[in-house]
Amino acid sequence: MSQGKFSQRVLAWFDRHGRSDLPWQADPTPYRVWVSEIMLQQTQVATVIPYYERFMARFPDVECLAAAEQDQVLHHWSGLGYYARARNLHAAAQIICDRHAGRFPEDLEVLLALPGIGRSTAGAILALANNQRHAILDGNVKRVLARFHALEGWPGQAAVQKALWLLAEQYTPVTKVAAYTQAMMDLGATVCTRSNPACDGCPLQADCAAHALGRPTDYPSPRPRKALPLRKTRMLLLRNAAGEVLLERRPPAGVWGGLWSFPELAADEALESGCVERLGCDVQLVDEWHAIRHTFTHFQLQITPVLAITNEHPAGVMEGSARLWYKPDSRDELGFAAPVERLLQRINDMQ
Ligand code: SF4
Repeated sequence: MSQGKFSQRVLAWFDRHGRSDLPWQADPTPYRVWVSEIMLQQTQVATVIPYYERFMARFPDVECLAAAEQDQVLHHWSGLGYYARARNLHAAAQIICDRHAGRFPEDLEVLLALPGIGRSTAGAILALANNQRHAILDGNVKRVLARFHALEGWPGQAAVQKALWLLAEQYTPVTKVAAYTQAMMDLGATVCTRSNPACDGCPLQADCAAHALGRPTDYPSPRPRKALPLRKTRMLLLRNAAGEVLLERRPPAGVWGGLWSFPELAADEALESGCVERLGCDVQLVDEWHAIRHTFTHFQLQITPVLAITNEHPAGVMEGSARLWYKPDSRDELGFAAPVERLLQRINDMQ
């Protein structure tokens, strides 16, 4: 199908059925679009909206985000997952303020040099905020294009990805780029959905190859399945006489980088000697809860919470350090991964 016909059909559909009330559509500055695009990576719109609104209320512009402490940024990301996104957002805001005088870059290559901004995100920011002609290829667009052409193969493979980018470029119109970009995202999110596409309401139905084959959900091919390896850890939920819980800040890179968590013990490490060795204090075992599981992209983590108390002061607990005593009902702006937040809630409920 020609570029003109494809985009006209998508744009006409958008006029009648597109979404126009998303919070980042109200005032689509590059900053607001950028934050929404990063939050929407791997996350559904309905989940993102309350996070987005809280984030914007707290960090209304790039200067404000750049000046914040990383803990404050991670706190506003707590529960959204994929925390490297928040760390990169923060680092990129600081670069924009330091090297670009707080002005959001309007050049694709300059945007691509910022941490956490890939080709599709950069294209979306420039298309949605500046109406520049750039293609995007997020999950929704990949799905629509893979189905429309009945393209075989998993989009994670370089050759399939390349073919999809070519199609995305080819169909992006010269005018009305912002509306077209939003239209493609909306079409994928609301009509050409992952498991239940509503082909009868789709403006592309008449020429869609996957629909003609009668098996739209076969496209795009899923990631080849591999059983996720299981890692085990024990988390030490250590409380003092004041009911506070010991937290440690995780190293800046890696899983839950920069977030606050509980000290961990290896699956076979003895509790008492482990605590003397690492925390320099005696502890007393109180209980062990059933293990919980958390799934990451590349592995599953089995966490066994171990409850203990101490009357001593663990090493390294002081203002500004990587260990602190934390009141589970505190409103301090700290970032927690979802399982840690749930365990803190459970401790709080016990008290
Ligand atoms: S016709 Fe169906 S499968 Fe094809 S693009 Fe539209 S919704 Fe997706």
